Amino acid sequence: MRWEMIVGLEVHAQMLTKTKIFCGCSTAFGSSPNTQVCPVCLGLPGALPVLNSKVVQYAVKVGLATNCTINQSNRFARKNYFYPDLPKGYQISQFEKPILEFGHLDIEDDAGAPKRIGITRIHMEEDAGKLLHPEAPGADYSLVDLNRACVPLLEIVSEPDIRSAGEAVRYVRKLREILVYLGVCDGNMNEGSLRVDANVSVRPVGQEKFGTRTETKNVNSFKFLEQAINYERQRQIEVLEDGGEIVQETRLFDAVRGITVSMRSKEEAHDYRYFPDPDLLPVVISQSEIEDARASLPELPDAKRERFVSTLGLPKLDAEVLCQTREMADFFESVVALHNDPKAASNWMMGGVLKNMNRDGMETLARLPVKASHIAGMLDLMKSGAISSKIAKDVFEEMWTSGKSAAEIVKEKGLTQISDTSEIEAIVDAIIAKNPSEFERLKGGDQKLTGFFVGQIMRESKGKANPGMVNDLLKKKMEG
Ligand code: ADP
Ligand code: MG
Ligand code: ZN
Repeated sequence: MRWEMIVGLEVHAQMLTKTKIFCGCSTAFGSSPNTQVCPVCLGLPGALPVLNSKVVQYAVKVGLATNCTINQSNRFARKNYFYPDLPKGYQISQFEKPILEFGHLDIEDDAGAPKRIGITRIHMEEDAGKLLHPEAPGADYSLVDLNRACVPLLEIVSEPDIRSAGEAVRYVRKLREILVYLGVCDGNMNEGSLRVDANVSVRPVGQEKFGTRTETKNVNSFKFLEQAINYERQRQIEVLEDGGEIVQETRLFDAVRGITVSMRSKEEAHDYRYFPDPDLLPVVISQSEIEDARASLPELPDAKRERFVSTLGLPKLDAEVLCQTREMADFFESVVALHNDPKAASNWMMGGVLKNMNRDGMETLARLPVKASHIAGMLDLMKSGAISSKIAKDVFEEMWTSGKSAAEIVKEKGLTQISDTSEIEAIVDAIIAKNPSEFERLKGGDQKLTGFFVGQIMRESKGKANPGMVNDLLKKKMEG
């Protein structure tokens, strides 16, 4: 029997606000446990929540960027359950009236064809605290850190439109890219700022009804997402082919073993006894707030990639790489603003800046040792013929380590390209004189020797001879 997999994702994205969603406590990551708490986020009796308006503003931007309908009147609901990291005994979330609905993102399927993934809903909610289980021998207790309690989240729920692990990864990548471009989430999956729950089911090809799904919680990297989905697909197929049944349950991904394990049977919505939160007013969003948000939207990644290809004439791959972050794209555009050759600038972004960033383990452009003006200056020198592309590589490395401009480096090190005919001709003659029999073979048509001669001449000139002139002169000598 052939099987088809169905996947729907719930993504929790932590909003980059300074303070929590219902109180003034800081949201900074990594502080000592329970130092960023107050009566509201500790759930003390009588404390009342006050909505952080930034969270609404961010949500509206996300809604616009993901093609959602914005519910201009929406409200919070209590999701009741007991867990030691949830001091109130309920989570403030949204239920029947989320702030955003009916959106979509466009990705590519595994064959590279365009594919639309529906977004069912996006709602605002508070995060829970974090339990710590000491591993010391004999430790028979757990600790709770409530710094994360009440930190603002958006939960982004997709339609069950995803059909492979690859599509799931591309969907989350695109979503993450948009959130980071908007500046509403730092996208840091290691720190849990973006977490994915993967709902997976399988059905025989041709069957219309969906199979029973399992939900694998809190997957926190793209690699794990792919592994978790593929593992779950295979596991479910094996259970069904053995005549078994899939139980609707919540599972956990075990990153060490690369498998999912059963955690608990799945709650149904009615288990949570949702009801409107009486402590909070309905959220009302005016048309002018929406228009303000729309006006403040940056150019989004898809539009930027499209412009880099259609207006700047870059290959699709270049646009793809440069638009991965807004900072990278902006840096690239600053180079182009100073030296108007997009492809040359892109080559140096990819083969120079990004390559060195990878080599040096640099994750952001924040501490980049070279400036856009330095790269543009280097491109100017190449264009005018003052330095060859070979020398430019050395100049680039020197710019990277010293932070000096290309012009300074070229001047200090005497790297200016030799474009003086007589000077180059002297070197060409010397090399021919040293290798008379090779030169006869070259003249006789042995093309392989061209490289040998050019190499020798370039080495003799310490890489400074203008390569175009070397080729021309060599040809002239061969002819006569
Ligand atoms: P819950 O909170 O109970 O998990 P949600 O509605 O928030 O429910 O999320 C359900 C998720 O599961 C959605 O992303 C949806 O697309 C997905 N889903 C629903 N049914 C299936 C199914 N049979 N197979 C795979 N995914 C499914
Ligand atoms: Mg769920
Ligand atoms: Zn607080």
